[in-house]
Amino acid sequence: MITTDYFMQKWNLQKAKYEPYTKPEENGWYCPIYCNDMNELVNCTECGKQVEYGDTFTSRFIHNRTGFGFPVCCECNIMEFELENDHITRIKKDCK
Ligand SMILES: [Zn+2]
Repeated sequence: MITTDYFMQKWNLQKAKYEPYTKPEENGWYCPIYCNDMNELVNCTECGKQVEYGDTFTSRFIHNRTGFGFPVCCECNIMEFELENDHITRIKKDCK
């Protein structure tokens, strides 16, 4: 197990800036930014679902100080991409 930096921040698409993000500590979520063991059980940083680290995706929004993404489950990965796509569709209309 390697846990490097538990500082979390979440990218706010509308404001185009990071905001503090805290996973629910009372649930004991384990959201390492990196694991050597791909079979190690971790929690999705978005929803808390327990998944093997090797089945997680790098979050599009929840990062540490240096920009590395925390693990998210497949469903949350899709949700993040959909949010991003919706945002891109909206801002495209304002491009000149
Ligand atoms: Zn999830």
